[in-house]
Amino acid sequence: MEPLYIPQLANRKDRTLEIIVDRSIPEFETLTPVRGKINVKHGGTYLEVSAQAETIITLKCDRCLQQYNHRLVLDTNEIIWLEAESEEPARHGVEVKSELEDLVESLPPDGHFPPDVWLYEQLCLSVPLRQLCNLNCAGISPVGAPIPEPVKQVETLDSRWGILETLRERLENN
Ligand SMILES: [Zn+2]
Repeated sequence: MEPLYIPQLANRKDRTLEIIVDRSIPEFETLTPVRGKINVKHGGTYLEVSAQAETIITLKCDRCLQQYNHRLVLDTNEIIWLEAESEEPARHGVEVKSELEDLVESLPPDGHFPPDVWLYEQLCLSVPLRQLCNLNCAGISPVGAPIPEPVKQVETLDSRWGILETLRERLENN
């Protein structure tokens, strides 16, 4: 997926570009290709980017530590503001910015939008924080856990020999 030149997007019919996705995403391990579509619309002062896609990933259960397959369904919509980069220093002035403002991504109006980077980020965000193979997963089963070994007789014998040794030393010293 080539980065989109943003001004070119404004010249398209409906100012919109639909990208069909059917591929693996670098750095994001999946069992099946990521399939779906990304829709990028130029809104004048912003880009409206949405995606519907799905794939299957392998996760590790937090409770039983077994690996399991998870169908990841992405259905997201994001506004990316188009702001010239020269405006940046002013925005970091004395003004106290709200936390929300910090979260909003922005791009220069004459810059490029990288669909693959954006999709990668969205996929990472959609990975569940709580990973359970099954909602009723009971966790690690005690069945099959190693049985503690019985205390070895040798140790007892050793301590007896130890007492004898002490006695022998005492006798010799007398
Ligand atoms: Zn589990």
